[in-house]
Amino acid sequence: MNDKLENAKIFDLDSLVRPNIKALKPYRSARDDFEMGTLLDANENSFGPPFAAKEKLNRYPSPYQYELRQLIADYRSVKPENVFVGAGSDEAIDLLYRIFCDPGQDRVIITPPTYGMYKVSANIHDIQVDEVLLTPDFQPRPQKILDAVQPDTKLLFLCSPNNPTGNDLNLLDIERLLDQFTGILILDEAYIDFSDRKSMASVINKYPNLVVLQTMSKAFGLAGIRLGIAIAAEEIIEYMRKVKAPYNVNSLTSRYAIRAFDHLDTIQANIQKIIKQREHLIRELKKLDAVENVTPSDANFILFKIARAYEVYQKLAEAGIIVRYRGDQPHCENGLRVTVGTPSENKQFLNEFEKVIKSLKL
Ligand code: PMP
Repeated sequence: MNDKLENAKIFDLDSLVRPNIKALKPYRSARDDFEMGTLLDANENSFGPPFAAKEKLNRYPSPYQYELRQLIADYRSVKPENVFVGAGSDEAIDLLYRIFCDPGQDRVIITPPTYGMYKVSANIHDIQVDEVLLTPDFQPRPQKILDAVQPDTKLLFLCSPNNPTGNDLNLLDIERLLDQFTGILILDEAYIDFSDRKSMASVINKYPNLVVLQTMSKAFGLAGIRLGIAIAAEEIIEYMRKVKAPYNVNSLTSRYAIRAFDHLDTIQANIQKIIKQREHLIRELKKLDAVENVTPSDANFILFKIARAYEVYQKLAEAGIIVRYRGDQPHCENGLRVTVGTPSENKQFLNEFEKVIKSLKL
């Protein structure tokens, strides 16, 4: 039996969606039917904003974001119907809980150490979290994950490259879980463009249970505009669009996100610069005796271990260098995570870091 048929047999989207969401009639405005004309339908202010601006700021933005979704679709070789855009990937995470998880009843599996919002969002929605730790070298344990699945387990979050560890997850493990997990597998690819690995957006047609999350906050250098992306089968994207707030992507965000696609060469060049700096930082960190463990990184940050990491973190902050203490996460005892910056930022970090090591006699 081919993969697709096998999947179709075990995965049933309809049975996963909450009944209230299936029955939901989404909000509609007159703008859903007419976008042009003398617009007296939405109680906007026809006199305009109080200052001159390029965008029509007095008008609500398009609920559909056709142009932006087309650009993203072309970039990731999917169709616009496979693309959802929202206020950061955090909005997409929140919507997936709202669509699939009944508060107080359903469950999610996460694989710590990993990105914190999966659990925070579960807590907000009153969803039970089952944690199946990654191995000490930060790879998933597919059998343990499958063993942890219960009848009410609706979602499984995997993050590759993973935050805070920086490494890609084994592709075969992800594929096995896509084949055998009958809920929705959310693969967070926030850092995919820093990895040698291809995005799994290209296999959404093979896996009807796959939702790929991406963001403009990292490789695109646009964290300030809050633009997150979900790529999945059309049926899942339809639900996301049905549940989202009507005007979730504002006009300024949309304009800058669209503009980014005129500058893909610069984005690529910056990715290459970051990767080069990452390798440089890894080499320099490995030279330091006090640094115990530098995790190989496929992302734009590096996790390493050092004795008294919390004190190191605080001393660095006193010197004006802010890194992230991750020692409270499983397998990350005494772990610090540093984002790869510009050459001068990295130099500053290394200088201050060496001073801190000396002052603490590490
Ligand atoms: N996923 C991961 C793995 C992240 O590390 C982050 C941000 N740190 C996000 C998602 C959030 O992305 P966004 O800015 O699109 O909300």
